[in-house]
Amino acid sequence: MRFYSTKNRSQTFSLKEAILQGLAPDGGLFMPEAIPRLADQVINNLPEMTFQEIALQMARPFLQQDFTETEIERLITQAFDFGVPLVPLTGELFVLELFHGPTLAFKDFGARFMARLVELITQKENKELTILVATSGDTGSAVAHAFYNKNNVRVILLYPSGMVSEIQEKQLTILGANVTALEIEGTFDDCQRLVKQAFSDKDLRRKRNLTSANSINIARLLPQAFYYAHAVGRLPFKDRPVAISVPSGNLGNLTGGLIARRMGVPIHQFVAGMNANDVFLQYLTSGRFTPRIVRPTISNAMDVGNPSNFFRILDFFEHDHQRIKSAIYGASFNDARTRLAIKQAFEKYAYIFDPHGAVGLLAMEKFVQDCKAENWQKIVLETAHPAKFKDVVEESCGQEVQNPPRLAETLQKEKKAILLDKDYSIFKEWLLS
Ligand SMILES: *Cc1c(COP(=O)(O)O)cnc(C)c1O
Repeated sequence: MRFYSTKNRSQTFSLKEAILQGLAPDGGLFMPEAIPRLADQVINNLPEMTFQEIALQMARPFLQQDFTETEIERLITQAFDFGVPLVPLTGELFVLELFHGPTLAFKDFGARFMARLVELITQKENKELTILVATSGDTGSAVAHAFYNKNNVRVILLYPSGMVSEIQEKQLTILGANVTALEIEGTFDDCQRLVKQAFSDKDLRRKRNLTSANSINIARLLPQAFYYAHAVGRLPFKDRPVAISVPSGNLGNLTGGLIARRMGVPIHQFVAGMNANDVFLQYLTSGRFTPRIVRPTISNAMDVGNPSNFFRILDFFEHDHQRIKSAIYGASFNDARTRLAIKQAFEKYAYIFDPHGAVGLLAMEKFVQDCKAENWQKIVLETAHPAKFKDVVEESCGQEVQNPPRLAETLQKEKKAILLDKDYSIFKEWLLS
């Protein structure tokens, strides 16, 4: 499979190039040249297949030009060694729990898949790679855990001192080995600026092989299609329409769903749940895309004012607003409404949502009402474990949230970080030392 840039369809790149470059040279996002349909036999067989079997079928067409069958199989078994349960709340309403990976958020799917692909590439080419990530939380920890102890790869995380939660900071700083956490005396924007400046520093790039692992990387996008197929395969009724609600920020998760549908997975409606940062909802309503300054909310992984995967969605539907609007129903909710939803869901279903999943639930409820979809089968993606947002969740539903064993272990380990000034020359000197 070759990959083109959303800014220029005529030039194509190999998967390796697309992964190592992250962004196309013209600033566009990489898209697969074709999205092949799964064989009918596979689609009919989804209920009988394991997550790994489904992932293999879906990954193969994108990977087989660059990797052997054995490599792809091993990669999938190793990357997805955790459960993806579909939990029923009622006979028709389900929660797809995407938080059973090592950092308790759905970003583990993309990060673990990408890490193993990068390891294979660096092994074959005998290259040393340095991955720079500026992070305000979830992404950095997923990437760090995914690349931990991988050969030929060094990960450098930059996070703003005093501006991430205790849990997030622990997840970023306990690893050691090939992962180094830099606690920057500045804001998240300072961290991002340092990373951007490093990428545009020709002198530095001559001396170090730099790569990013941010959410626009094609290797992080592809695996986000797999769990849609797996979840649909687990639904009880084969003849009822299916709606899936996705708590959305950068729209990567939703784009994964669109890929799954184009591969033939029967999904009849996508629902995009947003917080106050609802630039995409404004686009769905008006046809105009106007990026905005971010407003902080309790579902902070969706605080995005300029969602990067928007251009993939445009490309996917050939810029046809009507088609996008009919495929995706959007809705946004403020923090007060989200807190209330956490409380009500607990009362109604005895299920504890995190703030992101709660936004997804609200959007699904609104869709059902607006579109009279009571009879449909409905899946809400739950993107993070509620313990990651313990304070908000406990305040909202008056219920204590238990830390899963993994998190309890993490919290006991010692923080290892290097405190660094936000000045670029100091950062560069450190990188080269
Ligand atoms: C990143 C993230 C999201 C948003 O996903 P996108 O792919 O950026 O739309 C939602 N919930 C959680 C917990 C996340 O970490």
